[in-house]
Amino acid sequence: MKADSNTPKRVHQRIVDLRKLLEGHRILYHVYDTPEVSDTVYDSLMKELAELEQAYPEYDSQVSPTKRVGGDPIDAFQKVTHDIKQWSFDNVFSFDELTEWEDRNITLLIKNGITEKPSYVAEMKIDGLKVIMTYVDGVLTRAATRGNGEVGEDITENIRTVKSIPLVLPQPLTITVIGEAWIKKKDLDIINNERAKEELPLYANTRNLAAGTLRQLDPKVVARRNIQIYSYDIEGGAFTTQEEELNALEKFGFLVNPDRKVCKTLKDVQQFYDTWIDKRSEQDYGIDGLVIKINERNLWDVLGYTAKSPRGGIAYKFPAEEVTTKLVAVTVQVGRTGAITPVAELTPVLLAGSTVARATLHNADEIERLDVRVGDTVMLRKAGDVIPEIFDVVKELRSKTAKKFTMPTHCPSCATELSRVSIGKELSAALYCRNSECPAQHIEGLIHFVSKKGMNIEGLGEKIIETFHDIGLISDVVSIYHLKKSDIDGLEGFGEKSADNIITSINASRTVPLNRFLYSLGIRHVGEQTAKDIAKHFGDIQKIRTATFEELTSVDGVGDKVGAELVAFFANAKNANLVDRLLKEVTIIHEQKVGSSKLSGLTFVITGTLPTLSRDEAKELIEKHGGKVSSSVSAKTNYLLAGESAGSKLSDAQKLGVTILSEEGLKDMI
Ligand SMILES: [Zn+2]
Repeated sequence: MKADSNTPKRVHQRIVDLRKLLEGHRILYHVYDTPEVSDTVYDSLMKELAELEQAYPEYDSQVSPTKRVGGDPIDAFQKVTHDIKQWSFDNVFSFDELTEWEDRNITLLIKNGITEKPSYVAEMKIDGLKVIMTYVDGVLTRAATRGNGEVGEDITENIRTVKSIPLVLPQPLTITVIGEAWIKKKDLDIINNERAKEELPLYANTRNLAAGTLRQLDPKVVARRNIQIYSYDIEGGAFTTQEEELNALEKFGFLVNPDRKVCKTLKDVQQFYDTWIDKRSEQDYGIDGLVIKINERNLWDVLGYTAKSPRGGIAYKFPAEEVTTKLVAVTVQVGRTGAITPVAELTPVLLAGSTVARATLHNADEIERLDVRVGDTVMLRKAGDVIPEIFDVVKELRSKTAKKFTMPTHCPSCATELSRVSIGKELSAALYCRNSECPAQHIEGLIHFVSKKGMNIEGLGEKIIETFHDIGLISDVVSIYHLKKSDIDGLEGFGEKSADNIITSINASRTVPLNRFLYSLGIRHVGEQTAKDIAKHFGDIQKIRTATFEELTSVDGVGDKVGAELVAFFANAKNANLVDRLLKEVTIIHEQKVGSSKLSGLTFVITGTLPTLSRDEAKELIEKHGGKVSSSVSAKTNYLLAGESAGSKLSDAQKLGVTILSEEGLKDMI
């Protein structure tokens, strides 16, 4: 029908009917997965609605299904304070712990004069991003991220594009709905392939992708990415059971995970859990475990909350993700300090969302303990945040050709016999090459010296250091400062310009802050933070060189191990000579305090890729203003500075209720 031949009243009615029809089809398709019309029919109805809304803007509406394509990009997310604090559940890892949880609850119920035994609803705990949607009189008015539980970010425009969320409820209810946003594993692959072509950083897993997508400033990007949201909770509704609540969500047009079960007892819960341990990897989404909630709302309410979580619910976590792969070879690395590390070369395998091809085997004792052989099928897991490790061997699959790996007796670089070193009264687990002239150690030492956190000599990458060392252009760290342009110009792969650049950055490094100078020396156990602590305390390189063990260990953050290494390092005549010669080449500057103390007393953790700052730059900026940066999220962390593709630190921070901060947010604070 032609829009202009209609009276406004008829047009309006047509618009209302179209919206209702399209909403019905959305529910059939996205909630029940039972579409009744083809995509093209749906699209043509949508097209008609869009045209009518354009011709009659007075009837246009923010909650029209046509708005799901995404509005205009925004500059930044607004902070929103949640009406109800967003809790997270406590975790249990075994049936025993789960039973203890029930016992505690029953005791508490009896104290309150209730003898009724609770039943449970077991739901999937999806590894996604929590979103909180507010409906006023049945209209979606706001959607926010969980943030720190009290304050999140307004992502309403992005959520409007998500088809598993109704823009309007069938009844004029004022409720808050909680859901978990996720993206299909196959969509992760597609998006990562595209990003790889554009040389953009890849998303580590589906959770990162969901989080990164919902925090896109351009809703059109979100609309393209096929975000799914499983809704699972209503705040403000009057339901007598959790089961009823989930069913109601479905009726309201939300997508609810069909894989849920009402369980009379914890035994039923355990059965459900056991079937899902195996099934979970086949799903389109990542599953952490199950969330077990007491079904009866009256019992839930009586139990109330601990300081951190509601007592009536608990997360029953699955074991950490583990995979098997093949050990192809074991190679040996010589570190800067001469430590020999065996490295497992693996058939590349996907583990917890990223591809792993190498893992540390730590030392010979560990290889012995595992009884791991080349050719073996090994079990691999992520240790802590990132480092993959082999934790077991599938011996049933060992072939006759599997070969025992024996640690070399001599250094692969200089052929010196390897030995253990004494650490206090004990011998080290690792073997060491003790040859102070070992080329591999020299090269590692040189790479450490020029690294960003050290002297920061740009343009002298690992390959160039190796080349220069191999052809005898550089020997020790001092020799870097003796390099001349004519030494480099004309070498294979180097022209006048690149030679110039290298000399320029070497010269630029001739003035250096004390902490970076100390770090660059590569003294064992003296990392970035320790170097800072020592530099701050002594403020002078000569004082550090002559400090006693007692003086050194009196510094906050300097333990016996570090103290002993420092004393031994500077007492060594060769090292003393090297430092003397180095000090003729470089000038140590004392960092001027040009910053503020606006961040003093605050601890930050940095994760992901920030829009403009590198992680080191962000760290420098925070420290300049008196803040501290630590490497892992704990209860002491005040802020998580998070960028694109943030890793598990983000979820750690969310679990601990740490405030998530963007680069923009950080800059606002200083
Ligand atoms: Zn060696």
